Amino acid sequence: MDKSRIVSLNSINMIYHTLNEETHAIKDINLSIYDGEIMGIVGPSGCGKSTLLSIIAGLISPSSGMVEVKGQLVEVPLKNIGYMFQRDQLFEWRNILDNVVLGLEIQDKLNKNTLEDAKELLNNYGLGDFLYSYPYQLSGGMRQRAALARTMILNPDLLLLDEPFSALDYQTRLAISDEVGIILRQNKKTAILVTHDIAEAISLCDSIAIMSNRPGTIKDIIDIELSCEDEPTPIKLREAPEFRHYFNKIWKELDIHVR
Ligand code: ADP
Ligand code: MG
Repeated sequence: MDKSRIVSLNSINMIYHTLNEETHAIKDINLSIYDGEIMGIVGPSGCGKSTLLSIIAGLISPSSGMVEVKGQLVEVPLKNIGYMFQRDQLFEWRNILDNVVLGLEIQDKLNKNTLEDAKELLNNYGLGDFLYSYPYQLSGGMRQRAALARTMILNPDLLLLDEPFSALDYQTRLAISDEVGIILRQNKKTAILVTHDIAEAISLCDSIAIMSNRPGTIKDIIDIELSCEDEPTPIKLREAPEFRHYFNKIWKELDIHVR
């Protein structure tokens, strides 16, 4: 049997209207994402990447076109979607455990068992000693792990990651993206990762959609296949012989000019 399709975008257009102008943000986007796939989206700043994620999540309606998630037409914000942003959006006045169970609380699913699940998850993410710490007491990488735990505890069918590592310094970013990649694989999650880091996209994703300048269109979709002798992790995959080839190909297609 074919893998089931989780996301299907058909001829999506988004035109923003403001008082004195019209912005054609994305144009005629067709895209499918299948169960267990991690798809990267790279494209110049302002080309409509965040817009696209918001449309998939049902947070905004496209000007035209159709979005389906798990075969259902998306018309209202979806509950079975997890989000992770550049800023971790942790609430400073809640401790880490209370931040992580927030979604459970809202969905009225917080009980003894789910509270234990949350503690165990934080433990697995190396935050077992910080359950009752406040966000300001954690490093950027730890905060981002807590944000991931808050998302994963709800067991979403689809994860939308909007440049989740870009606020971190280079070393932390490598370590965290590696950890997140491993967690997504272990849990067989379907995810869309927006990033402007080409190497990050290649090491984490099964396929990469390259967007053009605004109005953003999908210029190309590249399937990534990297060979790795041991257990493949995102960091080890960066050593794969094919890595450079993909990097150069995507770099050329991105067509970024620096004056
Ligand atoms: P990206 O995430 O690729 O940087 P965005 O999706 O944030 O791009 O934005 C795409 C374009 O749409 C940009 O030109 C941006 O200014 C415009 N835009 C985004 N959100 C709005 C909005 N709410 N109202 C008007 N214009 C918007
Ligand atoms: Mg954006």
